[in-house]
Amino acid sequence: MNTLIENIAKRLVDVWRSPDVPRRGHTYRCQCGRPIFFRNSVCLACDAVLGYEPERAEVCVLERGPTADTWRVLGDSPEATAFRRCESFNMAAGCNWLVPVAHPSALCISCRLNRTIPDLSDPDNCRYWRSIEIAKRRLVSQLLALGLPVRSKVEEDPDRGVMFDLLRSPPEGPRVMTCHGNGLITLNVEEADDSIREKTRYEMREPYRTLLGHFRHEIGHYYWDRLIAGTPWHEKFRALYGDEREDYAAALRRNYKNGPPLDWRDRHISSYASVHPWEDWAECFAHYLHLVDSLDTALGFGLTADDIEMEVEPFLLEDLYDPEDPDAARALSLVNSWMELVTAMNELARSMGQQDFYPFVISRPVLRKMHFIELVVKNARESAESAVMASCAGGGPEVAQVTAFSRRAWK
Ligand SMILES: [Zn+2]
Ligand SMILES: [Zn+2]
Ligand SMILES: [Zn+2]
Repeated sequence: MNTLIENIAKRLVDVWRSPDVPRRGHTYRCQCGRPIFFRNSVCLACDAVLGYEPERAEVCVLERGPTADTWRVLGDSPEATAFRRCESFNMAAGCNWLVPVAHPSALCISCRLNRTIPDLSDPDNCRYWRSIEIAKRRLVSQLLALGLPVRSKVEEDPDRGVMFDLLRSPPEGPRVMTCHGNGLITLNVEEADDSIREKTRYEMREPYRTLLGHFRHEIGHYYWDRLIAGTPWHEKFRALYGDEREDYAAALRRNYKNGPPLDWRDRHISSYASVHPWEDWAECFAHYLHLVDSLDTALGFGLTADDIEMEVEPFLLEDLYDPEDPDAARALSLVNSWMELVTAMNELARSMGQQDFYPFVISRPVLRKMHFIELVVKNARESAESAVMASCAGGGPEVAQVTAFSRRAWK
């Protein structure tokens, strides 16, 4: 199966600059032909039952399965995998993802990453949680499509997995800080409140602040621990991003006291990225995910370069981190197409009086950092694939089902 990047690259080659473009999108369609979307659980036109199947990365039309409350993807053979709905389907999260019937967890691969959810006796928390899970599913679907490891630290991999605490600050304090540490991502659920988040964004002078942005940043920290720390990438990381052994607390204090260096735009994607090499990596990682997802969506709707009358000064091969990499031309095409797309999208946003769609500038040093991330992600996927091949040769992968952490706040 191709990775998300390979699929996008192929479509860029086939479609983005092709003179005779098949005007056909990659969006999901119901059996009745109407478009359906990532978060739908029923077709509004024909009432067909829908569910998202993370392995196929598709919203599928479902038919009744072999037993009560089980489902099969319409058109699959009777021997094909039967599914249940994720347990959070009937909760405020309204999760539309499917779980194979034989899987030991009642929760889908996105929901089982939660260790703690907010107290659902509070109606605001229900509203927050719903928005948070929509953003999280978007994140997880992309990570899976990229071939990155996604295993629950709660249920599957206590050592190297990832889990989430979705917490509300108590009225008497202290305030919950959104952060990552040792595979645990903590999110202050009030970030799901538009008025609170926008106020924070304004106070912090940030051009962009979203739930999805938080998740993409924090998961970047997690993958730094998994894919960079102590690996052959580590020294290369230091040469490119700086030495992360620099005192982190002191770096934060310095930034708080003096603000970012005046020339941060020359080297960083955001002012916050200038605080410390770890933050630089997490910010670049988030932007790498923004770029890939937005481009995938644009191609999915059949957009091409011909739709965009835009002269953007393209980056060149030598601007990349490793111009000799066999996939360097592909990486360059991705970022140059993205630059064309966001330039048009920014104008579109301005014409509605909205803030810019992408209020950032990618400088050459930032491009090098993002290309480095692309190489790390590619390497992670190739290593995972060869590990699966090796374990299949040895009699099948072992599935460890470890419950190392009790899940809290489920009611
Ligand atoms: Zn339909
Ligand atoms: Zn779920
Ligand atoms: Zn961070």
